[in-house]
Amino acid sequence: MIEKNFSLQCLNSYCLPGTAEYYYRYHSEDELSDILRWARRKGMPVHILGGGSNILISRPFIEGLVIHMGPLFLNRKGQTLLAGSGVDTSLSVLHAWHHGLSGAEFLYGLPGNLGGALFMNARAYDRSMSDIILSAKVMDETGKVFWVDKKDMAFGYKDSVFQHRPWTILAMSFQLQKGDKELIHREMARCIDIRRTKGHYDFPSCGSVFKNPYEAGIPAGKLVEELSLKGRRAGGAEIFSKHGNFIVNRDSACAEDILKLLEIIRQEAREKRGIILTPEVDIW
Ligand SMILES: Cc1cc2nc3c(=O)[nH]c(=O)nc-3n(C[C@H](O)[C@H](O)[C@H](O)COP(=O)(O)OP(=O)(O)OC[C@H]3O[C@@H](n4cnc5c(N)ncnc54)[C@H](O)[C@@H]3O)c2cc1C
Repeated sequence: MIEKNFSLQCLNSYCLPGTAEYYYRYHSEDELSDILRWARRKGMPVHILGGGSNILISRPFIEGLVIHMGPLFLNRKGQTLLAGSGVDTSLSVLHAWHHGLSGAEFLYGLPGNLGGALFMNARAYDRSMSDIILSAKVMDETGKVFWVDKKDMAFGYKDSVFQHRPWTILAMSFQLQKGDKELIHREMARCIDIRRTKGHYDFPSCGSVFKNPYEAGIPAGKLVEELSLKGRRAGGAEIFSKHGNFIVNRDSACAEDILKLLEIIRQEAREKRGIILTPEVDIW
């Protein structure tokens, strides 16, 4: 069912207000296919929403259709995991652990869903989604469903083919290995503890705001620290004192506050260090 004027505030990790002109919560492939074709006929912009942990809602009103993705299923066949794109990423790791499967521990504690993680080629502790993915089931803008092999996913650092095609990710399969449940659990605990220690869950945020400018030889967070910008505030937003590449919603921040800080970082990096920073967060 499509709803009109739907609030997205509870569906993004910044907790920013914003109303979708049209909102559809995934129900089935057939329905999604009809709705995509309807939006196409109307020439409507389509936005795909997963867990909302890497988007910045910058406007009070989002024109067009927001599709809030499912599906929600998790199956295992041998050492392969098949999962719907709406499955919580950490839940898929728990499922793998339950079956004694190793390889996905680095994703434990990563906010959001599997569809968003694949789209972003999410990365942690030097491992990326591209290290474990086998294939993905997608729907194009005409409602046609097909599978994409890993070799056709054009992975790069925080990049994938899905960022360059009008495809909705429906499901995916992962290749994992048999492992010792105790060791898998220890590694999952290590990964989430690092996030807790770094303050990832202290305040609403989207995680890292900028991609690391690897060509400049410095991570974005370190660059922000060297520019003495950590702790800088604009309204209710703060360049996080514990992590320079996070801009957190400390106290009822609005999108303008966050965008102001994002621009300050970008400008100082360019003017003082000659480094061009590219946002990682998807600005709606
Ligand atoms: C505290 C915190 C820590 C974080 N740490 C990390 C980290 O260590 N590494 C990292 O890489 N990221 C990190 N992130 C960012 C974010 O969690 C990841 O990018 C996550 O994988 C995004 O998933 P999501 O479901 O929330 O995507 P969303 O935010 O909903 O969407 C992100 C993008 O993916 C697209 N998308 C989502 N689902 C689909 C789909 N099914 N089909 C097609 N397109 C889709 C959206 O249109 C959007 O462009 C962090 C975020 C937070 C808040």
